[in-house]
Amino acid sequence: MGVDFLTCMNEGCKRTFADCGAFFPCSCGESFCSEECGNRQIEEPETDEYDALYSCNLCRGETILNNDLLKFLLEKYNITYKEAVEMFKAK
Ligand SMILES: [Zn+2]
Ligand SMILES: [Zn+2]
Repeated sequence: MGVDFLTCMNEGCKRTFADCGAFFPCSCGESFCSEECGNRQIEEPETDEYDALYSCNLCRGETILNNDLLKFLLEKYNITYKEAVEMFKAK
C-alpha cells in the first residue's frame, strides 16, 4: 500500500497532505487536512458495526467549491467558459 496525497477541499486552504497522517475524511467522500478545515460534525456516533458518520461544511451546504460557483455564474449570466476566459483576459 502506497501513500496517496490529497488536496484539502477547503477552498481557502488547498493544502496537500498524505493520507497516512491525521486528516478528516468525510463520510461524503471529500477530504480535509484537518477537522477544522472541514468543520467536522458527528452525525451518528460510532457503533460496533458501523463507523461514525460525519458531515463537513461541503455536504452540509455551508460552503461551495469554486467549480460549482463558476458553473452557477456561467449559467446565470448565460456565458460559456470560453467567453468568461476572454472577459478575464480583457479586464
Ligand atoms: Zn485544509
Ligand atoms: Zn462531507
